[in-house]
Amino acid sequence: MRFTCYALGLGWGHLTQPTPGRLLFVNRPMVFCLITAALFARPLAAQTEKKLSVNDQRVRDIFEQLININTTGSSGSTTIAAQAMADRLTQGGFPPADVQVIGPANSKNYNLVARLRSTGTRPQKPIVLLAHLDVVEARREDWSLDPFTFTEKDGFFYGRGTLDIKDGDAILVATLVRLKQEGYKPNRDLIVALTTGEEGGSDYNGVEWLLQNHRDLVDGAFVINMDSGDPVILNGKRVMRSVQASEKVYVTFKLEVHNPGGHSSLPTKDNAIYRLAAALGRVAAYEFPAQLNEITRATFERWATLQQGGGQLALDMAAVARPTPDSAALRRLSDASPLYNAQLRTTCVATELTGGHAENALPQMAAATVNCRVMPGTPQDEVQGTLARVVNDTAVKISVVSPATPSPPSPLTPEVMGAIERVTKRLWNIPVVPVMETGATDGLYFRNAGVPVYGVSGVFVDINDIRAHGRDERIGVQDYYDGAEYIYQLAKELSSTAR
Ligand SMILES: [Zn+2]
Repeated sequence: MRFTCYALGLGWGHLTQPTPGRLLFVNRPMVFCLITAALFARPLAAQTEKKLSVNDQRVRDIFEQLININTTGSSGSTTIAAQAMADRLTQGGFPPADVQVIGPANSKNYNLVARLRSTGTRPQKPIVLLAHLDVVEARREDWSLDPFTFTEKDGFFYGRGTLDIKDGDAILVATLVRLKQEGYKPNRDLIVALTTGEEGGSDYNGVEWLLQNHRDLVDGAFVINMDSGDPVILNGKRVMRSVQASEKVYVTFKLEVHNPGGHSSLPTKDNAIYRLAAALGRVAAYEFPAQLNEITRATFERWATLQQGGGQLALDMAAVARPTPDSAALRRLSDASPLYNAQLRTTCVATELTGGHAENALPQMAAATVNCRVMPGTPQDEVQGTLARVVNDTAVKISVVSPATPSPPSPLTPEVMGAIERVTKRLWNIPVVPVMETGATDGLYFRNAGVPVYGVSGVFVDINDIRAHGRDERIGVQDYYDGAEYIYQLAKELSSTAR
């Protein structure tokens, strides 16, 4: 997955992971965008028949090779893709010892970890550049083109993974080869980790496994993740670059009521379904308190300046970004859209319901699933305690179904944000907007292990044409080459001795 939240005057879109193709919500202004988008020309996608530079040709060839390798959970293998990328690197001059294809015994899905070594006597801690090799399933009959044949057509590259996230894999491998061939000496090791299991189809998660079993290979000062934080195109225009610096924490509870039951002809006052329903009603009515952090304050502050024509929305965004957020502005923003609301607080919502065993029997059991997306830093126990207090009925048993993996926000350090700002200004001259994702990515394993993660993809996405996990997945050809240049320059900026 790779999409974060956007709020750009005309509207926003948000796609979350790991569920395939789950476009969460589209508000009215965004619908307007969708309808009008077709009226705009897309100058960025204009195709040219020019001869490619050596660097563009390399990054294209690697991309083509990766798209043509099936890495789905069902019939594919990330080992084949990892080995192909390892070969590219060793052919590009990397010693085999610095290029590892690695994973648990008997798995068909291995990971690639490669290292461009620094030459300094006292190098700083490495930088990890991360993307996943696995892709979501794609059926030929659902697509107008073969999803596993790289196709360039009308200014776009088509194929499963073009957007999520083989573009990032190919760009990272090409960047390492380019840096190596230029004889570039970073002031710290640059580690590229291309992993498996992000989309859920693999037998394990590569990032989690590497951290548990080979921490030395992937340990770094921070991670740059290709899989989130996109530069954004709106109506044919490049408008901003988001940086995913935080993500909410996923945790699921079960609410359960048991009862002796009996014959439905003799109802009792105490009924499991009624009790559960009443409890859920109280959960529905409850709103967790607003809770802003460094990232979400920065998001609202930047969003405020991006609202076309200013207005109340812009004022409210600026007001909640202040150290003491304005309560009326908080109320209006929370009510204005599920996206703003989810940025402002922990949310818990009932998602599944079961109960009863016969139409003519009093229910002996009723249960509901409640899924929470918790503001980073809030302990799971605190959320469970709040639910218990809100439910206010000891007959309703609350238990954890999917425990939380804590994922603390990554600090917006001048070292990282400064480099991103400089490269963005130099190449594109658009604003940089830090964001908290309401879903979760592989970044959470690093964050949980104490390593900050910044989602910084180089490839522009058109928020009116997001096809990740969907049919005829694609990215703009020029957007791809520009993204490769961006990541190359960012890698240098972050590891440059000149600073
Ligand atoms: Zn992804």
